[in-house]
Amino acid sequence: MALLERFFPDIYVKSVFELPLEDLKKLGIRGLVFDIDNTVTPFDVAEPDEEIVELFAFLRKEGFKLCILSNNTKERVQLFNRRLGALAIHKAGKPGIKKLNRAMEIMGTTPKTTAMVGDQVFTDMWCGHRGGLLCIMTAPICNRDQLITKVKRGAERQVMKVYFKKYGK
Ligand SMILES: [Mg+2]
Repeated sequence: MALLERFFPDIYVKSVFELPLEDLKKLGIRGLVFDIDNTVTPFDVAEPDEEIVELFAFLRKEGFKLCILSNNTKERVQLFNRRLGALAIHKAGKPGIKKLNRAMEIMGTTPKTTAMVGDQVFTDMWCGHRGGLLCIMTAPICNRDQLITKVKRGAERQVMKVYFKKYGK
């Protein structure tokens, strides 16, 4: 994989509400692994809003196994997951794939049947590619970020500039 390609998404969407579910089904995707912060909710909002709760219920009804895989703390992830009831993994160590592999094991899916959904190229996309998953990137929900994320955003923008130049949008 070319140097930058490992960070590119396979699919880019504006938000988790635009996931191409029919395409994903055709590709055999049965499990969805979600990042939390700025993918499904702003990083500084503790609980999912009604729309996300409904989206997760809908996805489940559509037959998808759901997991949230976050590098954030146990407190953050457990409180956020309270109303979602998904498989929830904190301190995931993305872009490491140990916990991702564990998540798929629990969901009963494989890299071929699982997609990663996240807003960051150096954690979510790289993690997904290393694990051999389909990688779906969302535009970050808001431009407020943890300081460490803020530092990475400049470099991320450069990566995505190359991506958009190559694939349009
Ligand atoms: Mg994120």
